[in-house]
Amino acid sequence: MVAIKPAKRPVELGLRMGWYIVKNKLLGRKRFPLVTMLEPLEMCNLACIGCGRIREYRGVLDKMMPVDEALAAVHSSGAPIVSIAGGEPTIHPHIDKIIKKLVEEKYFVYCCTNALLLERMLKKIPPSKYFCWVIHMDGMEDKHDESVAREGVFRRAIDGIRMAVSQGYRVCTNTTVFRNSDVEDLRGDVPAR
Ligand code: SF4
Repeated sequence: MVAIKPAKRPVELGLRMGWYIVKNKLLGRKRFPLVTMLEPLEMCNLACIGCGRIREYRGVLDKMMPVDEALAAVHSSGAPIVSIAGGEPTIHPHIDKIIKKLVEEKYFVYCCTNALLLERMLKKIPPSKYFCWVIHMDGMEDKHDESVAREGVFRRAIDGIRMAVSQGYRVCTNTTVFRNSDVEDLRGDVPAR
């Protein structure tokens, strides 16, 4: 069996952030953004138990931010890191264009996803040191599937992580820890295939 080595966080990210902070301090700015939180849509293909987003934003669930508007928001913030969330970003019909343009401009882009559409997205967005998938994982299989209110999502997410890592993408995870989360479960080992 060949071990798959996950791509590491690039050194350039630390250097760019360091320089960005120093530059803003030298310019006398007391407050400046470190990360642009870009939400190009609020719609999702899941209905997780604890998600306020799909409930509180009901009135705008059909809205999709145009590519130009998304890029303009990132440019106006100027922060070197862009975290794309939602809703589920991979539902956006032009998310690949937004990500590819930002990567071309050397922003460090993190795209949060529940991984249900990951396989399709891997064909559209190439790996890059400027790009990282952030996979939603709220626990091991039973707890995660309970949290996202759908069976099989944990397995899809794990398969997606393996696929992305094997194709050279950077991948990290994002976990919501609730007041009643099972901490031991969060420490669990991912099952073998
Ligand atoms: S995947 Fe994320 S956005 Fe979608 S319902 Fe779950 S928590 Fe909300």
